[in-house]
Amino acid sequence: MQSSLRTISNLPSSYSVNEIFVSLQGEATFSGTPSIFIRLQGCEVGCGWCDTKNTWQLDKLKCITFTKMINKTTDNSSLAETKIEEIINFIQDKHSLISHIVITGGEPGQYNLQPLCSALEALGKQVQIETSGTSELRISAKTWVTLSPKIDMPGKKPILLSAVKRANEIKMPIGKTTDIDKLKQFIINYQPNSILPIWLQPISQNKTATQICIEQALKNNWKVSLQLHKYLNIR
Ligand code: SF4
Repeated sequence: MQSSLRTISNLPSSYSVNEIFVSLQGEATFSGTPSIFIRLQGCEVGCGWCDTKNTWQLDKLKCITFTKMINKTTDNSSLAETKIEEIINFIQDKHSLISHIVITGGEPGQYNLQPLCSALEALGKQVQIETSGTSELRISAKTWVTLSPKIDMPGKKPILLSAVKRANEIKMPIGKTTDIDKLKQFIINYQPNSILPIWLQPISQNKTATQICIEQALKNNWKVSLQLHKYLNIR
């Protein structure tokens, strides 16, 4: 996977966008919030259970137009090199009432998001990013950071202390009890601010994982994120 991943552009005004769509945020603090999702292409973390594996490879040969990208009907690895102005115009034209924007991936932390966050905030939007915390975050001061620790994944990308310190919430994917042990060790190692909400999110709505999350949330005063969108059968 890593060998096929090209160097991601640092150009502050253009991003490799896999898709832009509107749905309810289904996870963690903003669960239930109408949101515009901007999914960026490229991730080197390599989680085995990843449900967006089509975003891993950044292949500029798979470039499509902005119009084709926003009209996608299937998950695939095509991308549109997209200027901030195009994103802003699209939001203003089609979804101006939606005030919450989620920048996700892939791993959006690989991009310089500062200009995009600032442009969206200038429209009065609230910006959230979802990140594994494996890149130095280049974002605005107001951006809400959902840090989802991906520990011991095949990509061997270490979680950065700076990203943990910038987080507004921690959202830990849970498949089995050893993931709870990893979370506890993560808390010891990184000392995230104790006021941060810690969400346990069962992987793939698995029943056993969900039961573990409920039990451990009650035991440790953590929270459970149920991926509302999957229960509602929406994107
Ligand atoms: Fe998938 Fe996210 Fe893991 Fe990357 S960090 S492999 S996008 S789940």
